[in-house]
Amino acid sequence: MNEKKTTTNKNNIINEFSLISQIKQQTNLIHKNNIKGIGDDAAVSKIGDEYLVVSKDMLTEGIHFDLTYTPLKHLGYKSVVSNISDIAAMNVKPKSILISLAISAKMNKDHVMEFYKGVFLACKNYNIDLIGGDTTSSLTGFTISVTIFGSEKDKNKIVYRDTAKEGDLIFVTGDFGGAYLGLQILEREKNIFLNHPESQPVLDNYDYVVERQLKPEARTDIVDFFKKHKIKPTSMIDVSDGISSDLMHICSSSRVGCDIYISKIPVHTETIKVAQELNINEMTSALNGGEDYELLFTVNPKHLNLLLEKGFSSLGAIRKEEDGCNIILENQEKKSLISMGWQNKI
Ligand code: ADP
Ligand code: MG
Repeated sequence: MNEKKTTTNKNNIINEFSLISQIKQQTNLIHKNNIKGIGDDAAVSKIGDEYLVVSKDMLTEGIHFDLTYTPLKHLGYKSVVSNISDIAAMNVKPKSILISLAISAKMNKDHVMEFYKGVFLACKNYNIDLIGGDTTSSLTGFTISVTIFGSEKDKNKIVYRDTAKEGDLIFVTGDFGGAYLGLQILEREKNIFLNHPESQPVLDNYDYVVERQLKPEARTDIVDFFKKHKIKPTSMIDVSDGISSDLMHICSSSRVGCDIYISKIPVHTETIKVAQELNINEMTSALNGGEDYELLFTVNPKHLNLLLEKGFSSLGAIRKEEDGCNIILENQEKKSLISMGWQNKI
């Protein structure tokens, strides 16, 4: 969720990506059935005749969510959805979820059950069973840990981050930048409230972006779409940290470069309106914001027409690694695509 990619540990500022990369370097998979370990949206293990696709996420109060403006039911929904998105990014639909909670002293049973209303709604909407978890208490904030998995019989249907090829086209679902701007609106209203406790939040004009932030949806419909049209993307990732950062994950894993066009990045009209009001560049929000939970994938160019016809956006193409990762601006100037990830929360 909406954390920046550093973790404060006493005097150390840890960069999450370099930490994970170091852990990965020291990991050797002993068992042949563990087909994909660290480095993708989910891990893949062969169990009998099927391939288990499994992912895990931890969310902590004050880092990933703020209970002053996040209704618990929405938090429950989003905790499930953000995990579903990681399984969808493997071209698989999840079936099972386990949820562990560390409950803070300021929460009572009703609060926890309100959180579960959101969990159950997401499970119902996405056809998932809650099959377990763990419950403990927390001396600090509310902490949520989710494990999710699905399975696939056909090994070749699973899509990874490290298989994009030069010449593939880069596509995205949906639109970008809304969730980040929704967060800015909620933070703004919180600050107004802290200074003027008698005031009421004014959110009426911001439904679209606030909903993108508080009640995102995962694109399992795209898994169905690919199946129906017999399309297999050459690589895929879910966009939880902004287009820049997540496209660069595909490029570095696949050892390729890319060119994308700023003019092709889809941004909703409501997002543009809010960006103008807050004096934030909507493209910065789309490229470097987070939590849109859309999918970014690469495909063979033969699928171009069908994908455009069905409303997907083509951002550009995969290039050679030595060409680097670039963004082409409106004036045709080519700039290096700098990975900024989530930069809002300290
Ligand atoms: P996403 O943003 O898609 O949830 P992450 O950036 O959280 O992905 O994780 C990237 C990869 O690193 C995944 O394969 C994940 O399982 C792995 N990973 C993250 N943290 C750890 C950790 N502490 N130990 C081992 N693997 C980790
Ligand atoms: Mg992911």
